[in-house]
Amino acid sequence: MITCPKCGATAVNFVKLWPSALTETKDTEGKTQPLTGVFECRECKTKFRAKVHSKKKEKQQIVNVKNSVEKIRDLRDDLMQTLRILREKIQMLESEKRNLLEEVETLRKTAEARVTILEGEVNQMRQEVKALKELLSSNNTAPAQKS
Ligand SMILES: [Zn+2]
Repeated sequence: MITCPKCGATAVNFVKLWPSALTETKDTEGKTQPLTGVFECRECKTKFRAKVHSKKKEKQQIVNVKNSVEKIRDLRDDLMQTLRILREKIQMLESEKRNLLEEVETLRKTAEARVTILEGEVNQMRQEVKALKELLSSNNTAPAQKS
């Protein structure tokens, strides 16, 4: 287990790994090849070297972990970007919705004002028609409009 020398965290990112030539064993099967690695602490970002007395299989595991970490990092970057784009889109849509609501409200008020004006005009015209009818029926003997 590799731990950070500064804060003791075990969550470390793998940076680099190579065989430590000085202590390389003559193991023909290459089972116990000591390795030197550079790691970065995920907690405090300290970079440090550590010897990894591991079998080749474990070295492969470290490489796999490295690949997984990179994949996860990529996925996380993608996710962050997607979230950022979505957030911007939502903000844009919300501001557009606000603008549209304001516009609808303005149009509604304009339409209402026009209805009020038209109602006034129609009422006035009705009264004029009524006045004309009264005028005609009192001045004219011809009962032209009786209904
Ligand atoms: Zn640390």
